Amino acid sequence: MWRPVCRIRLVSIYIRILLFVSVCNRVKNYIFVVENRYRTKQLTKKCFMKECPECREQIKGRSDKKFCSDLCRNSFNNKLNSDTTNHVRNINNILRKNRRILEDFIPEQTAKSTKTKLTQKGFNFQYYTNAYTTKKGVTYFFCYEYGYLPLENDFYFLVKRKEYTEQ
Ligand SMILES: [Zn+2]
Repeated sequence: MWRPVCRIRLVSIYIRILLFVSVCNRVKNYIFVVENRYRTKQLTKKCFMKECPECREQIKGRSDKKFCSDLCRNSFNNKLNSDTTNHVRNINNILRKNRRILEDFIPEQTAKSTKTKLTQKGFNFQYYTNAYTTKKGVTYFFCYEYGYLPLENDFYFLVKRKEYTEQ
């Protein structure tokens, strides 16, 4: 009597084991698929993720976004603009100062002075608006309408011109 019952129990246990193994396999496969999907997602994210040039944070959202936020875009552009503006302003200030110094040194149309005197007033010989070479091959340097010509022994010939734009 006990044999058939035992066989049925055995078969039932066997079926249960089979079911359990198949469920386990399914779960394993599902975990594998989910894991893979996650990994590819992370990889593509890494590949396409851009850095914000202002704060160095990863940019989230649209792939054509250049900055992480409007704040970062504005401060980045402001910095860029202020650098160029500062540079231009500094040079403009030097040229204006040069012009003012020459204006003080030239009461009429022409004058004569020395490099030492001009430098003492803060004249910067590195900057001028234009150079003009005469037919004799002498080169005048101009700061707007005021020009100077280096002479011998530290001396400078200074001149004011009515038309100071050269074609
Ligand atoms: Zn940013």
